[in-house]
Amino acid sequence: MVVSTINGTSPLSHSNGTTIPLSTFSRNSFVNVEKGDPVAFRPYWEKVRDECTVEIKCDEWMSYLGDTNNLCWYMVPQMRDAILRLHNVVGNAVTKDKFLVLGTGSSQIYQALLYALSPSESSHRPINVVAAAPYYSEYKDATDILQSKLFQWTGDAALYDKDEPYIEVVTSPNNPDGTLRVPVVNSGVEGKIIYDLAYYWPQYTPITDQLDHDVMVFTFSKCTGHAGSRIGWAFVKDIEVAKKMIRFVQLNSIGVSRESQIRAAKMIGVICDGYKNLKSIESDHLFFDYSKRLMKERWEKFKGAIEKSKVFTLTKYPTSYCHFNKDLSEQYPAFAWLKCLEGIKDGESYLEKLKIRTRGGGRFGVDAKYVRVSMIGTEDEFIELCTRLSNAKRE
Ligand code: PMP
Repeated sequence: MVVSTINGTSPLSHSNGTTIPLSTFSRNSFVNVEKGDPVAFRPYWEKVRDECTVEIKCDEWMSYLGDTNNLCWYMVPQMRDAILRLHNVVGNAVTKDKFLVLGTGSSQIYQALLYALSPSESSHRPINVVAAAPYYSEYKDATDILQSKLFQWTGDAALYDKDEPYIEVVTSPNNPDGTLRVPVVNSGVEGKIIYDLAYYWPQYTPITDQLDHDVMVFTFSKCTGHAGSRIGWAFVKDIEVAKKMIRFVQLNSIGVSRESQIRAAKMIGVICDGYKNLKSIESDHLFFDYSKRLMKERWEKFKGAIEKSKVFTLTKYPTSYCHFNKDLSEQYPAFAWLKCLEGIKDGESYLEKLKIRTRGGGRFGVDAKYVRVSMIGTEDEFIELCTRLSNAKRE
């Protein structure tokens, strides 16, 4: 993507050859990179706006029902077909012989899975829910908010040493640190595993395998950037687990907005059509080509700024062959995971002084010298973030 400079002033240059244009941000305002709101891909959607527009008339999609022939009765056939087509195009998951369960975002799918994977006999103690630290900061609160008798948050999977039933959440690539992960619990008891694959899309990481796990969770939010549509889904091997999840969604929200499903299905269709008509389309019109290029450019600029600051170190990522892009590629995670160098004990407070709002390591179950920074915010925010980080040492 070409980023223009403002007022013709010269951009900031870094030793790794990257440049950062000057931003329009006021010096006194905060740069908020604390949340992971995925608005970075909006310029792509502006370009294809006309192709993606859906008109929904007031007498359409009124019913609770989507498809009474489907186990997931509130999912409309267009949504089901679009999700299956998307995975077929990207090649990131085996969908055959699995049940597709739709949710109001993958946050609802997570709740539905905790319910569905917990033992149903009331004599059982709550099942332990763990994830290897640093783990996605919302799992803990989402697990404990209702103080359920069915499940309880037990913390870092790497420290789990009970011979009791457990659910391990494996997030790969991981939020916050972008690493690729496998289960880590070492227990005499066999656990249940939820694979949260929110970031297993080609703009963030090479697609190395068509994953084939019993429970795989995806979200439209991080795939296309349409977090506001609240569409998430899971592929589930066991029909009893799928049925319990659907019962949970029924009691929680009586399904998923049909307007959202229709709009999401349309956008997924446009992405997939692009890859079908590869020869007649420019690569900037292909969603994953565009979004990967954007993430790559951001990461290059960001690394330049971090190098210049000499205050932080960054996680290193391997290069792998991507079956989707048919090339060797690095990872470009949705978040940067910074470790402060000696002398700075609390990264979040340190950056707060530079007017950069981040999420500190404590929220992810690790030390406060780590901080998470969103790489998927607006271009303006991102440019200002890099500028402020470049100057970190001097300030
Ligand atoms: N899992 C992970 C790892 C995430 O980062 C997020 C969003 N930040 C979610 C799940 C929830 O996504 P949503 O509810 O928008 O589908």
